[in-house]
Amino acid sequence: MPDERPIPSPNPGTAPYWKAAREHRLALPRCRDCGKFHSYPRARCPFCGSPRLAWEPCSGKGTIYSYTEVFRAPSKAFAGEVPYLVAIVALEEGPHLMTRLVTADNTSARVGQPVDVAFEDLDDEISLPVFKVTQP
Ligand SMILES: [Zn+2]
Repeated sequence: MPDERPIPSPNPGTAPYWKAAREHRLALPRCRDCGKFHSYPRARCPFCGSPRLAWEPCSGKGTIYSYTEVFRAPSKAFAGEVPYLVAIVALEEGPHLMTRLVTADNTSARVGQPVDVAFEDLDDEISLPVFKVTQP
């Protein structure tokens, strides 16, 4: 296990996601035939099988579908960050994303809470989408 926090490595299939994230925007593949967004990126729409896909911006808004609190770091790289929350966020556009949930107080997270995307700049090239509970 690495001692340093792992940095995502974009590949041709995920490069548009990381390029948008670097610009602090959330983008996902959308089918030009049925109109549905999906995640993770695939060569064909998982709903209708169409190969006609395009990356489009998402609202960055969603709700907490599920979450858990991590108390034991998976590697030394995360030892200084525990406890932290990992969530599945249901985006307004439909897809569910596994993500870090950033809160002032880990005990305040609730399933169904509205969340907004935020971005954590990991280095000069990669920004990681995370989610924060929407402030009223
Ligand atoms: Zn489709």
